[in-house]
This record gives sequence, C-alpha cells and structure tokens, in this order.
Amino acid sequence: MGLSSLIYQHSPNWVRTVMLNIFAYSLNVERYGKKFEMLLNEFERNENLSRAELEEYQREKLLIMISHVYEHVPYYRAVMDGLKLCPKDFNDLTDIQKLPILRREDVKSNYAQLQADNIPRYNIRHGHTSGTTGSPLRFLWDISVCVAHHAADWRQKQWAGFRFGEPFVSLQGRQIVPFQRSKQPFWVMNHIHNQLFMSSFHLKDEFMGAYIEKIKQFRPKGVEGYPSSLYILARYLKKNNMFCPVPAVLTSSETLLPIQRELIEDRFQCKVYDFYGMSERTIFATECKFHSGKHLNLDYGITEVVDKDNNVLRDGDFGTIVATSLWNFAMPLIRYKTSDASFILLDKCPCGSSFPLMNQVTTKQEDIIILTDGKMVPSSILTHPFKPLDNILKSQIIQNTMNSVCIKIVKGDRYTVRDEAELLKGIQERLGDSVDINIKYVRDIPNDKSGKFRWVISKVQR
Ligand SMILES: [Zn+2]
Repeated sequence: MGLSSLIYQHSPNWVRTVMLNIFAYSLNVERYGKKFEMLLNEFERNENLSRAELEEYQREKLLIMISHVYEHVPYYRAVMDGLKLCPKDFNDLTDIQKLPILRREDVKSNYAQLQADNIPRYNIRHGHTSGTTGSPLRFLWDISVCVAHHAADWRQKQWAGFRFGEPFVSLQGRQIVPFQRSKQPFWVMNHIHNQLFMSSFHLKDEFMGAYIEKIKQFRPKGVEGYPSSLYILARYLKKNNMFCPVPAVLTSSETLLPIQRELIEDRFQCKVYDFYGMSERTIFATECKFHSGKHLNLDYGITEVVDKDNNVLRDGDFGTIVATSLWNFAMPLIRYKTSDASFILLDKCPCGSSFPLMNQVTTKQEDIIILTDGKMVPSSILTHPFKPLDNILKSQIIQNTMNSVCIKIVKGDRYTVRDEAELLKGIQERLGDSVDINIKYVRDIPNDKSGKFRWVISKVQR
C-alpha cells in the first residue's frame, strides 16, 4: 500500500474528500480536457455513420497501428519479420487476419517486447487486471487510449440519458472508505466530476437505509455499479417494500443475470444499461434504449469471433471474442484473445445504429460469497487484492463454510512470502475477521465439468 493510500485510509472523511478531489482534478486535466471533448464529439458523429464509413474509419486506424507496431514494437517487428510481412501487406480490414492471435500467455511472457519504444514516459499509465481467470495481467496504457475509453464511456452514459457534468453515483470496486468503518458516510464526493463514490464494501442491512437516503438526496441522473452490488441494494429495497427511483442504472464488469436486471429495474424504476468492456481497452459494447443486445463500438476497436482453432467465424456463430485496440500505442494488443464468448447478431437494431449488435457475453460462471452477517461479496471485489500480484499464474477461491475460505494458488517462479502476506491481508480485509482463510498451493486448477473455469465457488447453502 502506498503512502498516499495509507493516509487516505486513516484520515477523517473531509481529508479523504480533499485527497479524492485533488486526484480527480489531475485526472480531469489529463483525461477530460480538450482532447476528450473533441473525441467525444467525434464519437457522437460516428453514431450516424454508415457501416461502410465506420469500416473505413477502422481501416485507417488499423493501418496506422500496423505501421506503428512494425516500427516501434519489438514483439510485432519479430512476428512480422518471421512471417515476411511488412506494413505494405496490409490494405483491408480483413488483412488483420495475417497476424497471429495474441494469447494472455503471450502478453505475460512478452511484457517488455510488447512495449513501444517511442512513447514518452509521462504519457504512460500502468493498467492491470486480475482477469477472468484470477491470474493477473499487467499492461500499459497511453493517454490516447485513456481519453478514448472515457469518451466511449460517456457516449454510453449519453445513451442512458445524462451528460458529462451531470450528477451520478458510482458503486464499484474502489476502496472509498476504510473496510472497518461502521458509521456513515460510506461515500466520498468527487466534486470535479459531480460523482458520488459509494463503497461496495459496506452493503449490510444495517447500513443500506443510509445508502438509499443518500442516493435520494443526491438526485443522480444515473447510478453505475457492479450488477451484484446493485442487486444487493435492490433486494434490500424489496425486502423493505421500498423503491429508489433514478433515471438510469448502468452495469458492467460482471455478467448481468436476468433476475438481477429485473429486480434492479423494478426497484430503481428505470432501465438498466449493461455494457461490456475490458481493462485491456480493446473492446467496448453498449446498450441503446432498445436493449436488444450490445452495440459494438466500431470506432473503439476491432472485434472478431473465432472458433477453437482460431478460425474467424461468420456473424451469428458463437465463439471466443478476439479484440484489437485502435487507440493504445504504448502497448498495442492486436487480435487479443479474451476468455469471453458471444456472437454477432444478424438482426439490425430498431435504433438504426450501424454499430452491430453482439449477444450477451458469456463469461465463466462465478458464485457470490456470503458471510454470516448476510453480507454478500461479489467476485469482482475479490479480484482487487490479486491485481498487484503478477506472480500468480492461476487462482481459485472456494468458500467451504460461512467462516472458511480456501484460496488455491498456482505459483509463478518469482512468487514470494511477501506476495502471500499481501494477498492474505487484502482478502481478509474484504471478508472480515470472522472468516478463516487458508492458502493451498497446487500445481494446476482444472476447469469444471462443462469446461468452464469458475474462479469463485461457494459451497454454502443459501
Ligand atoms: Zn440500438
């Protein structure tokens, strides 16, 4: 834990508010400045382009990316030299298929070679994911992809009915207030972006009334959050025969289950806009007001769907999502194979957008851990302690009883006792002291009978 985050955790709420707002201000300068405004305008215009015009937009961006990786990214230079390819061999969008699929393992083992040699350090940010398999992956973003990501995110929010600067609530994985806090506020206000950050870690029955009151008083134009966190709030509302009307709810980061959507829409009395994106910043897919699938944002990245032998499938065929960033020059991921599966719908959306529709994305099924006090811990929250630990090859969390959790770990070569201590501490903080956590080191963790990998398994009867 860095010094600033230690101070943040141990300060009074007003200090946290000041610190968060200073941070938001610095982000504002970097990611919501003139470039953001221009790109958001460009993205808005792109909504009205024809499919052919959008493909031309993608083609131009792809060719720029190919020239860039050939000149400046050692990994791709070696791959292209090995295949006797040079940028001249790329003319059409389908020429992307001349390059091989990039697997997670490839990114892990070629971390240095995938970095461009011409991006100034001050333009580089570090990103990471614990990924859908619980094995963290590090990568770099440049400012350009950060801005593009925020522009796509705000276009989605506009589809849901509110604009940059209007009040909204975020109920996501960030640790907003200390875990052990037992009285409100469980939130911190980001005045720079008119955003109320609420903690996902204090969703207990005794506190949820305060959450609902605060949301009502704040009168947001939208509430964004993990489906599981919003579902916990919606269940509380139902149990107490209450409603919390807001204009829109946006969900992401986990599979939104139909029963979750239904109850959230019922209790918040609005539509849910679910979207799909990745920390890798290669794909962004969003719902319009018809909610008939997710529109692939063609100006954000190039998406392919492949079969198990990596052959590109036709629209309508179910397979694994392969995604290419058009914006990240610091560490370009081209034809990056995700662990998610879906297919492109053949029907056009009644909204008339030329962004094709993608069906619901299938990720591995995950369970929710439930604690003795009834608190439910979404799996996405448990991914956070894994994020800085890239010496873990594979992991799995198994809840055997209300009070005991086992974490299976496949260690990497450089895994140390410090990693273990940090992981234990991070998980313990999120589950609370009443839960016994033991770590079991194993050689591999097999997939389940259906071939899917389940990162979190709860054996507790509910
Ligand atoms: Zn639509």
